[in-house]
Amino acid sequence: MTSPMQPVVGVLALQGEVREHLATLDRCGALGRPVRRPGELGGLQGIVIPGGESTTIDKLSRAFGLREPLLAALAGGLPAFGSCAGMILLADRIMDGRSDQQTFGGLDITVRRNAFGRQVDSFESDIDLAGVAGGPVHAVFIRAPWVEQVGEGVEVLGRVATGSRDGAPSPADGRIVAVRQGALLATSFHPEVSGDPRVHQLFVAMVRERS
Ligand code: GLN
Repeated sequence: MTSPMQPVVGVLALQGEVREHLATLDRCGALGRPVRRPGELGGLQGIVIPGGESTTIDKLSRAFGLREPLLAALAGGLPAFGSCAGMILLADRIMDGRSDQQTFGGLDITVRRNAFGRQVDSFESDIDLAGVAGGPVHAVFIRAPWVEQVGEGVEVLGRVATGSRDGAPSPADGRIVAVRQGALLATSFHPEVSGDPRVHQLFVAMVRERS
């Protein structure tokens, strides 16, 4: 039996950082479940869209027949957390996407894909997050997007601190890297790889609120 106290949270398992999310969800008192087929969306109280490659996840979601049922679940209010590629997939608008790339949408934001630069420009930084107590979260950015623009209903939870890239002024300074809108949460970075469960705890709390 499942209970609202131990919600079942899916991790879209088409490509990307699935295992790390499942492990972190378990640490937060949720039951993590990989989701590859439409039938596996049933009974979920939340879903994580992991980091990976947003164009690949988009394509595979269509090939596996997951796109439409997932859109329906999101439209029905299923809480979702997207990290990195997952943030891109939850965004209503993309810049620097591939011309045929689609998102699931839901978050009234514009994201810029690969905004921080290519793979070599991946970096780590400490980010203060609204709604996450206990000091800044150590954030790992890997070919990450940032949020260029947010709609009215979107709460900005975190930004890159000025000078956090080697202390020198950088185009990354002040960029929005964590947002929330209703039951949707997204981060540009990968909280699942740093061993700090607080972002997942925030998401599991959002899921419990809804259940
Ligand atoms: N650059 C990737 C994309 O566009 C995202 C990278 C990641 O998830 N680590 O989908």
